[in-house]
Amino acid sequence: MKQKIAVIGFGAAAIGFIEKSKDSGFEIHVFEKSKDIYSSSISGIRADGKLFVSREMGGDIEIDMDLQKKLVDYYINFTNDKNVETGHSFTNEVYYKKFYEKGFQPITSDFYHIGTDQLKEVLYNIYEHFKKIKNIHFHFEQEITEVEVLEKSIRLSNGEIFDKVIVGVGRSGHKLVTKIISKYPQLILDNSKVDLGIRYELPNHIVEELNKEMYEFKIRYKSKTGYMVRTFCNNPSGYVVTENYDDFTTVNGHAKMKEKSTNTNFAILATLKLTQPFNDPIGYGSYIAKLANLLAGDGKVLLQTYSHFKNSKRSKNWYRVFPTLDENKYILGDINLAFPRRIIESIIDFIENLDIVVPGVANPDNLVYAPEIKFYSNYLNNNTFSSLYFIGDCSGATRSIIYATAHGYLVAEMLGAK
Ligand SMILES: Cc1cc2nc3c(=O)[nH]c(=O)nc-3n(C[C@H](O)[C@H](O)[C@H](O)COP(=O)(O)OP(=O)(O)OC[C@H]3O[C@@H](n4cnc5c(N)ncnc54)[C@H](O)[C@@H]3O)c2cc1C
Repeated sequence: MKQKIAVIGFGAAAIGFIEKSKDSGFEIHVFEKSKDIYSSSISGIRADGKLFVSREMGGDIEIDMDLQKKLVDYYINFTNDKNVETGHSFTNEVYYKKFYEKGFQPITSDFYHIGTDQLKEVLYNIYEHFKKIKNIHFHFEQEITEVEVLEKSIRLSNGEIFDKVIVGVGRSGHKLVTKIISKYPQLILDNSKVDLGIRYELPNHIVEELNKEMYEFKIRYKSKTGYMVRTFCNNPSGYVVTENYDDFTTVNGHAKMKEKSTNTNFAILATLKLTQPFNDPIGYGSYIAKLANLLAGDGKVLLQTYSHFKNSKRSKNWYRVFPTLDENKYILGDINLAFPRRIIESIIDFIENLDIVVPGVANPDNLVYAPEIKFYSNYLNNNTFSSLYFIGDCSGATRSIIYATAHGYLVAEMLGAK
């Protein structure tokens, strides 16, 4: 008998799942809360559009490199003019050794930058492709708020019953996931981590050589505090932006294919692994973000120069580096009033050491924005029920477009898709 499968959310993971199972005879119903395919709230694949092929980043599961590359090509094939920026991080031994020597752990990856603008058409083209397949049915403006596991099937909050439900709601679907795990706590395998830190902005010329060589330089560093610190999401000639969650605002960055600034920005994040009896890393991170917002004013983030960040002083003006973030979205303040000392010290230690490898990184007039936070979803167990599966970022197993897509693809394979 034909299996009836519900996929909740139409994001990167759902794309992987549907692509792999589209010819398997399943009857697939996709429930997406956004109004339509053009809606700005739909799928994180619109976010920034750097596709990585790497063993060392993107998630906590192992994804075969050939599958990663195959999925990159899949996305590129859906762009209109197949024009992407490409590069390699730390495949050049000279750079690898230069960082390694000073205590950094360089992360190797190949990447393909599709760009925020082109990603919109990719999502639209993929949707048009799936829509033509007769066993795939899209239901927009359908936010699923609950699921109920029955003996041999599963019911959605809209009353419909399916053989299997695949939850691919990303981070924006945390409300649904929280509801499911409070009903079925046996699904949780791990919840202990949060990444807290800043977004750093400096003139392009300081990191020009690195940007040219690898575009995205990803490194980890064990700081003197014991915390692991890492760079994340490097944006050459990019822009700093804010990101609004339900009840707080954080900072982020992006790069566009056409419009370019004269600054580079990247995140510097310290990973906190909290231990028993504490088990609410999201709560902890949110409180710190809210404290920063309290100082900055509603919906705003804090900004100061690096020397003031280091010496705990409020900045009053700029010298040579000017912020790319819209001036209505930040306040000149002191991040030291919001962040715990151990995080601040870890970040300063990281920047001072990076300055030895890349001179100018610790210039006093470089810019520091906060809060930047990366939450890890609870790591969920896909072997708990035979009718309920989690794919992509909401499963805690992935943190990138390619890993999320691959996760969906592999779960489809596990369910018998050919
Ligand atoms: C600012 C930003 C920049 C990023 N840049 C990059 C990058 O350059 N490269 C990279 O690899 N990754 C990047 N990421 C991460 C990447 O976007 C995610 O890892 C990826 O999109 C995860 O895919 P997913 O399918 O799990 O979730 P998503 O792609 O987020 O899709 C989830 C979908 O579920 C829908 N949904 C949520 N709740 C419900 C519900 N209750 N009912 C129905 N539908 C629901 C949402 O509307 C959404 O369409 C970035 C993320 C952000 C926030």
